[in-house]
Amino acid sequence: MESGDAERLKYAALELRMAMESLTYDRALAYKEEFPPAEYETWQPRKVMAVLLDIDPTADKDSSLAFGIEPSYGEKPDVMHSLGTEKVLSMSTLKKHYDALGSYLHVLAMSRRRAGIAINYDKMRTRCEDIAGYLREVLASPVWNSTFGTFATIDCQKCGKPVRKRLPQGVDCTKATCFECGASYVVRDVGENQAHFEPDQVELHCANNGCETAIYPWRSEIAPGVGWTCDVCGGENIVQLGISHTPKGPAAAVASPAEAHE
Ligand SMILES: [Zn+2]
Ligand SMILES: [Zn+2]
Repeated sequence: MESGDAERLKYAALELRMAMESLTYDRALAYKEEFPPAEYETWQPRKVMAVLLDIDPTADKDSSLAFGIEPSYGEKPDVMHSLGTEKVLSMSTLKKHYDALGSYLHVLAMSRRRAGIAINYDKMRTRCEDIAGYLREVLASPVWNSTFGTFATIDCQKCGKPVRKRLPQGVDCTKATCFECGASYVVRDVGENQAHFEPDQVELHCANNGCETAIYPWRSEIAPGVGWTCDVCGGENIVQLGISHTPKGPAAAVASPAEAHE
Protein backbone atom coordinates (compact mmCIF):
# COMPACT_ATOMS: atom_id res chain seq x y z
CA MET A 1 0.00 0.00 0.00
CA GLU A 2 2.87 2.35 0.82
CA SER A 3 4.66 1.71 -2.46
CA GLY A 4 2.27 4.12 -4.15
CA ASP A 5 1.85 1.62 -6.97
CA ALA A 6 -1.84 1.63 -7.92
CA GLU A 7 -1.60 -1.84 -9.46
CA ARG A 8 -0.52 -3.30 -6.12
CA LEU A 9 -3.47 -1.86 -4.22
CA LYS A 10 -5.65 -4.83 -5.01
CA TYR A 11 -3.27 -7.07 -3.09
CA ALA A 12 -3.59 -4.77 -0.10
CA ALA A 13 -7.39 -4.97 -0.51
CA LEU A 14 -7.19 -8.77 -0.45
CA GLU A 15 -5.03 -8.78 2.70
CA LEU A 16 -7.36 -6.31 4.44
CA ARG A 17 -10.38 -8.38 3.54
CA MET A 18 -8.75 -11.49 4.97
CA ALA A 19 -7.80 -9.55 8.10
CA MET A 20 -11.48 -8.61 8.57
CA GLU A 21 -12.43 -12.26 8.17
CA SER A 22 -9.82 -13.37 10.72
CA LEU A 23 -10.95 -10.77 13.25
CA THR A 24 -14.58 -11.84 12.87
CA TYR A 25 -13.70 -15.52 13.35
CA ASP A 26 -11.58 -14.61 16.38
CA ARG A 27 -14.54 -12.77 17.83
CA ALA A 28 -16.69 -15.84 17.19
CA LEU A 29 -14.22 -17.91 19.26
CA ALA A 30 -15.18 -15.84 22.29
CA TYR A 31 -18.71 -17.20 21.79
CA LYS A 32 -17.83 -20.75 20.73
CA GLU A 33 -19.90 -22.35 23.48
CA GLU A 34 -22.97 -20.49 22.29
CA PHE A 35 -22.43 -20.61 18.53
CA PRO A 36 -25.19 -22.73 16.92
CA PRO A 37 -23.66 -25.80 15.18
CA ALA A 38 -26.06 -25.18 12.27
CA GLU A 39 -24.07 -22.00 11.55
CA TYR A 40 -20.61 -23.62 11.55
CA GLU A 41 -20.46 -23.48 7.75
CA THR A 42 -21.20 -19.76 7.72
CA TRP A 43 -18.11 -17.90 6.60
CA GLN A 44 -19.23 -14.50 5.32
CA PRO A 45 -18.12 -12.11 8.07
CA ARG A 46 -21.36 -10.16 8.03
CA LYS A 47 -23.39 -13.34 8.51
CA VAL A 48 -21.08 -14.58 11.26
CA MET A 49 -21.38 -11.19 12.96
CA ALA A 50 -25.18 -11.33 12.64
CA VAL A 51 -25.11 -14.69 14.48
CA LEU A 52 -22.88 -13.17 17.19
CA LEU A 53 -25.18 -10.17 17.58
CA ASP A 54 -28.09 -12.53 17.96
CA ILE A 55 -26.21 -14.25 20.79
CA ASP A 56 -25.02 -11.00 22.37
CA PRO A 57 -26.23 -7.58 21.15
CA THR A 58 -22.96 -6.06 22.43
CA ALA A 59 -20.69 -8.48 20.52
CA ASP A 60 -19.49 -5.74 18.15
CA LYS A 61 -19.30 -2.90 20.68
CA ASP A 62 -16.13 -1.46 22.16
CA SER A 63 -15.80 -1.89 25.91
CA SER A 64 -13.67 -0.76 28.83
CA LEU A 65 -12.61 -2.91 31.74
CA ALA A 66 -12.03 -1.48 35.20
CA PHE A 67 -12.04 -2.84 38.72
CA GLY A 68 -12.18 -1.40 42.23
CA ILE A 69 -12.78 -2.39 45.84
CA GLU A 70 -16.33 -1.89 47.07
CA PRO A 71 -16.55 -0.04 50.42
CA SER A 72 -19.30 -2.53 51.22
CA TYR A 73 -21.06 -5.24 49.21
CA GLY A 74 -22.85 -3.77 46.19
CA GLU A 75 -21.57 -0.24 46.75
CA LYS A 76 -19.73 1.61 44.00
CA PRO A 77 -15.95 1.68 44.57
CA ASP A 78 -14.37 5.09 45.23
CA VAL A 79 -11.38 4.32 43.05
CA MET A 80 -11.52 2.36 39.81
CA HIS A 81 -8.42 0.95 38.13
CA SER A 82 -8.67 0.76 34.36
CA LEU A 83 -7.44 -2.32 32.52
CA GLY A 84 -7.96 -0.62 29.20
CA THR A 85 -10.39 -0.47 26.36
CA GLU A 86 -11.13 -3.05 23.73
CA LYS A 87 -11.90 -1.93 20.23
CA VAL A 88 -13.65 -4.58 18.17
CA LEU A 89 -14.48 -4.89 14.51
CA SER A 90 -18.05 -3.62 14.27
CA MET A 91 -20.90 -4.66 12.02
CA SER A 92 -21.09 -1.14 10.61
CA THR A 93 -17.43 -1.29 9.53
CA LEU A 94 -17.98 -4.70 7.96
CA LYS A 95 -21.00 -3.38 6.09
CA LYS A 96 -19.22 -0.27 4.99
CA HIS A 97 -16.00 -1.86 3.75
CA TYR A 98 -16.02 -5.64 3.31
CA ASP A 99 -18.04 -5.91 0.10
CA ALA A 100 -16.53 -2.72 -1.25
CA LEU A 101 -13.06 -4.24 -0.87
CA GLY A 102 -14.30 -7.31 -2.70
CA SER A 103 -15.26 -5.21 -5.70
CA TYR A 104 -11.57 -4.31 -6.14
CA LEU A 105 -10.68 -7.97 -6.51
CA HIS A 106 -12.62 -8.45 -9.72
CA VAL A 107 -12.09 -7.28 -13.25
CA LEU A 108 -14.49 -4.48 -14.17
CA ALA A 109 -17.78 -5.79 -15.52
CA MET A 110 -18.37 -5.29 -19.24
CA SER A 111 -21.27 -2.94 -18.67
CA ARG A 112 -19.04 -0.67 -16.59
CA ARG A 113 -16.29 -0.75 -19.17
CA ARG A 114 -18.74 0.14 -21.89
CA ALA A 115 -20.03 3.01 -19.81
CA GLY A 116 -16.45 4.23 -19.61
CA ILE A 117 -16.20 3.70 -15.84
CA ALA A 118 -12.61 3.17 -14.73
CA ILE A 119 -11.24 2.06 -11.36
CA ASN A 120 -10.83 5.05 -9.09
CA TYR A 121 -7.46 4.26 -7.51
CA ASP A 122 -7.52 7.33 -5.26
CA LYS A 123 -10.82 6.22 -3.73
CA MET A 124 -9.50 2.67 -3.40
CA ARG A 125 -6.37 3.92 -1.64
CA THR A 126 -8.35 6.10 0.78
CA ARG A 127 -10.61 3.20 1.65
CA CYS A 128 -7.69 0.82 2.19
CA GLU A 129 -5.94 3.36 4.41
CA ASP A 130 -9.11 3.93 6.45
CA ILE A 131 -9.54 0.21 7.05
CA ALA A 132 -5.85 -0.35 7.82
CA GLY A 133 -5.98 2.44 10.43
CA TYR A 134 -9.09 0.96 12.01
CA LEU A 135 -7.73 -2.60 12.06
CA ARG A 136 -4.47 -1.37 13.58
CA GLU A 137 -6.45 0.06 16.53
CA VAL A 138 -8.43 -3.18 16.91
CA LEU A 139 -5.25 -5.25 16.95
CA ALA A 140 -3.51 -2.88 19.37
CA SER A 141 -6.32 -3.09 21.97
CA PRO A 142 -4.94 -3.84 25.44
CA VAL A 143 -8.07 -5.89 26.16
CA TRP A 144 -8.72 -8.73 23.72
CA ASN A 145 -11.87 -10.68 22.96
CA SER A 146 -13.63 -10.05 26.25
CA THR A 147 -17.23 -11.05 26.77
CA PHE A 148 -19.27 -10.88 29.94
CA GLY A 149 -22.77 -12.08 30.42
CA THR A 150 -25.41 -13.58 32.62
CA PHE A 151 -26.23 -17.17 31.77
CA ALA A 152 -29.12 -19.47 32.52
CA THR A 153 -28.64 -23.24 32.28
CA ILE A 154 -30.90 -26.28 32.45
CA ASP A 155 -30.72 -29.90 31.40
CA CYS A 156 -32.81 -30.30 28.25
CA GLN A 157 -36.19 -31.81 29.08
CA LYS A 158 -36.11 -33.77 25.83
CA CYS A 159 -32.57 -35.17 25.62
CA GLY A 160 -30.98 -34.34 28.98
CA LYS A 161 -28.00 -32.41 27.56
CA PRO A 162 -27.24 -29.01 29.12
CA VAL A 163 -28.81 -25.96 27.46
CA ARG A 164 -26.99 -22.73 28.25
CA LYS A 165 -28.36 -19.35 27.30
CA ARG A 166 -26.98 -15.84 27.67
CA LEU A 167 -29.57 -13.41 29.01
CA PRO A 168 -28.94 -10.11 27.24
CA GLN A 169 -29.06 -7.10 29.53
CA GLY A 170 -32.38 -5.30 29.65
CA VAL A 171 -34.17 -8.21 27.96
CA ASP A 172 -36.43 -10.27 30.17
CA CYS A 173 -37.51 -12.87 27.61
CA THR A 174 -35.42 -14.73 25.05
CA LYS A 175 -35.37 -18.03 23.16
CA ALA A 176 -32.98 -20.90 23.79
CA THR A 177 -32.42 -23.95 21.61
CA CYS A 178 -30.83 -27.25 22.64
CA PHE A 179 -27.87 -27.76 20.28
CA GLU A 180 -28.16 -31.51 20.76
CA CYS A 181 -31.80 -32.20 19.86
CA GLY A 182 -33.22 -28.88 18.64
CA ALA A 183 -35.82 -28.52 21.41
CA SER A 184 -36.55 -24.86 22.05
CA TYR A 185 -37.47 -22.94 25.17
CA VAL A 186 -38.71 -19.48 26.04
CA VAL A 187 -36.41 -18.23 28.80
CA ARG A 188 -37.64 -15.59 31.21
CA ASP A 189 -35.69 -13.64 33.78
CA VAL A 190 -37.87 -13.99 36.88
CA GLY A 191 -35.59 -11.95 39.16
CA GLU A 192 -33.48 -12.94 42.17
CA ASN A 193 -30.91 -14.62 39.89
CA GLN A 194 -33.48 -17.07 38.62
CA ALA A 195 -34.56 -17.87 35.09
CA HIS A 196 -37.57 -19.87 33.99
CA PHE A 197 -37.35 -22.21 30.97
CA GLU A 198 -40.69 -22.80 29.36
CA PRO A 199 -40.69 -25.68 26.85
CA ASP A 200 -41.71 -24.36 23.44
CA GLN A 201 -44.39 -26.95 22.78
CA VAL A 202 -47.55 -26.64 20.73
CA GLU A 203 -51.00 -28.15 21.02
CA LEU A 204 -52.06 -30.24 18.00
CA HIS A 205 -55.35 -32.08 17.66
CA CYS A 206 -56.17 -35.38 16.02
CA ALA A 207 -57.72 -34.45 12.67
CA ASN A 208 -60.53 -36.96 13.14
CA ASN A 209 -63.48 -34.61 13.76
CA GLY A 210 -65.09 -36.96 16.21
CA CYS A 211 -61.87 -37.37 18.21
CA GLU A 212 -59.70 -34.22 18.25
CA THR A 213 -57.45 -35.65 20.99
CA ALA A 214 -54.63 -33.20 21.74
CA ILE A 215 -50.90 -33.94 21.74
CA TYR A 216 -48.12 -31.55 22.76
CA PRO A 217 -45.01 -31.95 20.56
CA TRP A 218 -41.97 -29.65 20.62
CA ARG A 219 -42.26 -26.89 18.03
CA SER A 220 -38.98 -28.12 16.49
CA GLU A 221 -40.57 -31.54 15.83
CA ILE A 222 -43.32 -30.17 13.59
CA ALA A 223 -42.54 -30.44 9.89
CA PRO A 224 -44.43 -31.49 6.76
CA GLY A 225 -44.64 -35.26 6.55
CA VAL A 226 -44.27 -35.83 10.29
CA GLY A 227 -47.16 -37.64 11.85
CA TRP A 228 -48.49 -39.59 14.79
CA THR A 229 -50.91 -42.39 15.55
CA CYS A 230 -53.75 -41.17 17.71
CA ASP A 231 -53.82 -42.96 21.08
CA VAL A 232 -57.61 -42.65 21.31
CA CYS A 233 -59.06 -43.37 17.84
CA GLY A 234 -56.02 -45.18 16.41
CA GLY A 235 -56.08 -43.05 13.24
CA GLU A 236 -52.97 -41.71 11.52
CA ASN A 237 -52.34 -37.96 11.40
CA ILE A 238 -49.81 -36.41 9.05
CA VAL A 239 -48.75 -32.76 9.14
CA GLN A 240 -49.08 -31.12 5.74
CA LEU A 241 -48.72 -27.67 4.33
CA GLY A 242 -51.93 -26.56 2.69
CA ILE A 243 -53.83 -23.62 1.36
CA SER A 244 -57.54 -23.64 1.87
CA HIS A 245 -59.70 -21.47 -0.30
CA THR A 246 -63.24 -20.29 0.14
CA PRO A 247 -64.86 -18.85 -3.00
CA LYS A 248 -66.36 -15.35 -2.92
CA GLY A 249 -70.09 -15.12 -2.35
CA PRO A 250 -72.44 -16.97 -0.02
CA ALA A 251 -70.36 -18.86 2.48
CA ALA A 252 -69.70 -22.35 1.19
CA ALA A 253 -68.16 -24.86 3.55
CA VAL A 254 -64.81 -26.03 2.17
CA ALA A 255 -62.71 -28.36 4.22
CA SER A 256 -59.09 -27.28 4.52
CA PRO A 257 -56.46 -29.94 3.75
CA ALA A 258 -55.22 -29.59 7.33
CA GLU A 259 -58.58 -30.77 8.56
CA ALA A 260 -58.79 -33.77 6.27
CA HIS A 261 -58.27 -36.98 8.16
CA GLU A 262 -55.41 -39.02 6.75
ZN1 LIG B 1 -32.06 -31.52 23.95
ZN1 LIG C 1 -57.91 -39.44 17.22
